[in-house]
Amino acid sequence: FKTPIATNEPILNYAPGSAERKELQDTVAKMKATPVDVPMYIGGKEVRTGNTVSMHPPYDHQHNLGHFHKGDGSHVKMAIDAALAAKESWANTSWEHRASVFLKAAELIAGPYRAKLNGATMLAQSKNAFQAEIDSACEIIDFFRYNVQFMRQIYTEQPESGPGVWNKLEYRPLEGFVFALTPFNFTAIAGNLPAAPAMMGNTVVWKAADTQIYSARVIMEILIEAGLPDGVINLVYVGGQEAGDVIFSHRDFAGIHFTGSTAVFENIWKTIGNNISTYKSYPRIVGETGGKDFIIAHESADPIQIATAISRGAFEFQGQKCSAASRAYIPKSLWPAVKERLEIDVKSFKMGSPEDFTNFVNAVISEKAFDSIANYIDGAKNSSDAEIILGGGYDKSKGYFIEPTVIVAKDPKFTTMCEEIFGPVITIFVYEENDFEATLDLVDDNAYALTGAIFAKDRIVIEHMCKRLVNAAGNFYINDKPTGAVVGQQPFGGARKSGTNDKAGAMQNLMRWVSARTMKETF
Ligand code: GLU
Repeated sequence: FKTPIATNEPILNYAPGSAERKELQDTVAKMKATPVDVPMYIGGKEVRTGNTVSMHPPYDHQHNLGHFHKGDGSHVKMAIDAALAAKESWANTSWEHRASVFLKAAELIAGPYRAKLNGATMLAQSKNAFQAEIDSACEIIDFFRYNVQFMRQIYTEQPESGPGVWNKLEYRPLEGFVFALTPFNFTAIAGNLPAAPAMMGNTVVWKAADTQIYSARVIMEILIEAGLPDGVINLVYVGGQEAGDVIFSHRDFAGIHFTGSTAVFENIWKTIGNNISTYKSYPRIVGETGGKDFIIAHESADPIQIATAISRGAFEFQGQKCSAASRAYIPKSLWPAVKERLEIDVKSFKMGSPEDFTNFVNAVISEKAFDSIANYIDGAKNSSDAEIILGGGYDKSKGYFIEPTVIVAKDPKFTTMCEEIFGPVITIFVYEENDFEATLDLVDDNAYALTGAIFAKDRIVIEHMCKRLVNAAGNFYINDKPTGAVVGQQPFGGARKSGTNDKAGAMQNLMRWVSARTMKETF
């Protein structure tokens, strides 16, 4: 009975001339030519406010993809009421039945909806087909399937009993509603944040990021087709402040599942703290926030491996991953070889629309993101402590395009070495071999602790680095890039200012959405 029921969804490679490439291209072309009208989904009903906001591809911002209906605090209130109304019946639905809704959704994504969900992610979030496939096909499917596997474990493993006594653990959903506040950068994360608490019997208010609403809507359609009852997940499009004002002052607020910036998370935590006496129970606070993810190479490492990790880890999806490599420490002896290979890799990257499958680099998500990243690049251009050795160009006339940019910093505490940029920029510090220990201290001396990668061939050194950097990353890679965690294989999450480390798509996370009742019966 311990046989796993989940395996990772195979990644389609969209080879030139393949049927899957044709289907995806046709779907994207059709979606691009057909503007959509996207309602909110509250209590099983589509809600249109008439206050419409248009959606544009970040790589072609004059093109209109359609619009969504913006709500306000009253819609958040409606969503909470719908979640509370659906609560009892969903909590009393057997876990197997709840699980089957999400397994069915996984099948719908794997089959009939694959191209549509990937298409929405490509068009509105500017992911290339391959980045879309690993996110809005494979990872979301894996989240649903693996969560079901962990659910089964949670609900079926029981404490020991003996003659005359029967001990039971009963996992009740939280009392109240859960709030899912989701990011633009992973469709899979946006889907998992409301799904995980819902699978454990909770009902949810889901606020999607404005730039992810196209794919959020497709996820909602899929869940409804999979049989999700009305009111279990209620999707609203509102301003953060408006949502927060209603959610965090509500007596039945039971928990938040969050991915986003550290600053927003800290504000939320403070608000919850200030309102703590309002709530019926202490809310569960689960969040994944920022990162300043590192690569550190030892002189025994392979320079080609390091260069590949930098170019893939820093520039896939334009560096808009919390896990993206954004600071690297390279020993002086390896730097010429690493640099040479990095130049070859980065110069081979084509930049442009994701509709052309040969473009590796696409646009960043929005004008706001573009301006902030460009500002960091300008800071490096104007500083005597840094030199831009690759990229550094940007242009927002058609889309929000920023060249993959490599900065070499003379000062290991240069701004771009310390602050999260969330764009296609990596800063490298070249260190003297004798300063290896001091460089490990520099790596560790950062507010964040999400992902990190070490490169070395020497086993003793690998072990030393693992120990010395024990708290520097929640996802730690040895001789590999620091991105691309696979559900069921490398549970994802970080500590320090990177989050509560409740590991998405893992048992730890699902346990946060239940409240255990211990029962003892004596005969
Ligand atoms: N799980 C993703 C990875 O390992 C990153 C998630 C994120 O950016 O929030 O690359």
